[in-house]
Amino acid sequence: MDEYEIYAIKYAGPLESSGAFVMWNREWEKTVKRNYYVWCIKGAGQTILVDAGVAPELASEKNLKGYVSPTEVLSRIHVKAEEIRHVVITHIHWDHTSGVHLFPKAAFYIQDEEYRFWLKDPVAKRAPFEHLSDETGKAYLASLEGTDRLVLLKGDQKIFPGIECLLSPGHTVALQAVAVNTAKGTAILGSDCAHLFRNYREDWPSCLIVDLVGWMKSYEKLRARASSIDLLFPGHDFLMAENFPQVAKDVTRLV
Ligand SMILES: [Zn+2]
Repeated sequence: MDEYEIYAIKYAGPLESSGAFVMWNREWEKTVKRNYYVWCIKGAGQTILVDAGVAPELASEKNLKGYVSPTEVLSRIHVKAEEIRHVVITHIHWDHTSGVHLFPKAAFYIQDEEYRFWLKDPVAKRAPFEHLSDETGKAYLASLEGTDRLVLLKGDQKIFPGIECLLSPGHTVALQAVAVNTAKGTAILGSDCAHLFRNYREDWPSCLIVDLVGWMKSYEKLRARASSIDLLFPGHDFLMAENFPQVAKDVTRLV
């Protein structure tokens, strides 16, 4: 089976927020540090990106602290954004999707249910959802509908030998994690199924919940699929930038 390496590409942060943001309804008095990442999977002659990050226009609109375009950070490990052919979108929140137009040759792999919710369901236009997505990224994805650059997945699906998308709802209606075969076994990029490593260990979600029952089942599923809990990576933990070997500025090798 093909083996891959995984790199965390930090494109913004650290930001501080209330502990209760990342540990739902607990730790109101604490503050936590968060970074923003995309991930790069390399191996078997392939380069696959997980999430598109934030485009420069939106980053300045939101005044995103410590922002450097994900394409700039990727170039530090000699990955050219304009040559990337495959981008897995874990979920359609602004910090994971608004940069889709930075990858003009990529096919985007998204859960069909996630896409349909954000693009077609009137509920997604309501305030609590609308402020979590961005119009530009959604419009770009919609412009690809019906072409081979938008790949809508239904549930768990292998997209390459040794790389499988895993439906993991809870944070959004159909967030997907990415299971990757590595030299250490199966690693999972869980994106915002957990903001921090702690969420998986303490079995506790972040505050952005659409389905708490589904989320608890997703935790069980991902913990069972990863070869060890150390290979289950969260979406925003600053430790991904600190506890792993640095290969370039803002780039660490997770496995
Ligand atoms: Zn996020």
